Amino acid sequence: MREFPSNRLIRKGKGLKKQKAMVRADKIAAPSFTLSASRVQIVPLKGTSIYINNRIYRGKINLIRKSKEGVLITNELGIEDYVKGILCKEIAPWWPMDALKAQSIIARTYALYQQQFPKDKDFDVTDDIYSQVYGGRSSERWRTNRAVDLTKGRILIFQGKVFPAFYHATCGGATEDASQLWKIDLAPLKGIPCGFCKASPHFSWEKEISVAFIRQKLLEKGYSCPEDIQDIEIMTRNSSGRVMRVLFKGKDSYAEISGKDFRQVLGPNIIRSATFTITIINNTAFIKGLGWGHGVGLCQWGMYAMAKEGYTYTQILSHYFPGSQIGKAE
Ligand SMILES: [Zn+2]
Repeated sequence: MREFPSNRLIRKGKGLKKQKAMVRADKIAAPSFTLSASRVQIVPLKGTSIYINNRIYRGKINLIRKSKEGVLITNELGIEDYVKGILCKEIAPWWPMDALKAQSIIARTYALYQQQFPKDKDFDVTDDIYSQVYGGRSSERWRTNRAVDLTKGRILIFQGKVFPAFYHATCGGATEDASQLWKIDLAPLKGIPCGFCKASPHFSWEKEISVAFIRQKLLEKGYSCPEDIQDIEIMTRNSSGRVMRVLFKGKDSYAEISGKDFRQVLGPNIIRSATFTITIINNTAFIKGLGWGHGVGLCQWGMYAMAKEGYTYTQILSHYFPGSQIGKAE
C-alpha cells in the first residue's frame, strides 16, 4: 500500500485485513492506517486480488478523497483485464464464441475511444451503463476470458482511427443513425436493416401508462403540456422508424417533444426504444414498441443470432459497422 505522489510506502505484506476506509476531514482513515492524504493506492502482491464490497478486482485500487463524506474508488488496470470484467455483464457466457469475440472487440474499441476524452482526471470510464457495465474479476468466466484472449489488442477502426463502437440490446428491425441522437456523423454508424433479432426476448414490448402520469413527468422535467391531454400522436418518424416528434393534444392547446426526450422523460427502461406507437383509451396510454436501447451500432441479439447461424465475428462486425476494419490497439 502506498501514498502517491510521494510514493511513501505505508505497509507491505500479505494478508491485509478486511477494513472499512473512511474520509475524515482531510484524512483517509482505515483501522490499519490514518493518513493526511487525498489518495491512497493499494497494489496487490503478484497472484493476489483485492475485495471491495464483496467483489474481486484485478489491478490496483485507488482510494481518492473527494469530499468530507466520500471516497472515490477507482480500479487501475490494463485494457484486456478491463474487457474481461465487462463481457459477462453485457452478454451471457454461453453465447457462441464468435458473438463473444465480436463483443470483446467492440467493448475494447468503445473503452479506448472513451479514454481519449476523460471526463474526470481521476478515471477514464465508470462501471455503469453510462460507460460499460464492469464487474471486476468477480464477473469473469472462462469462455468470455477466452474470447478476450483470442482477440487480444484487436479493435474496430474506420479510416485508420478508433471510433465509438456503440452497441445496444436489440434494434427491433433496423439500427439507428448515430447522427439522429448525437453529434456523430460516421459511415459505420449510419444504421442498417438488421434482419437478425426477431427471436430476441426484447424484440417487442408494451406499456400501459396513465395520461396523468405522463403529464406529471413532462411538467416535472420542465416541459410544457396541455392541462387536458385528449390525445398523443406521433408526428414524425425517421427512416429507421424511430419517433422524431410526439404531439400532446389538449382541447384548446398542444405541446410537442422529441422522441428522444420523450424516452428520457418517462425513463429509457419504460419506453425501451424510440420505435413505438401510442393509443389513448380512457386516459391510459397503450404504448407498443420494438427493440431495447438507443439502437446505434451493434444489435447484441442480432449478433447472437448471426453467430448461431455460423457467421464469424468479422462478418458480424462488418454487418453492423459497414466500412469498418479490424485493427490493432496502439
Ligand atoms: Zn437487430
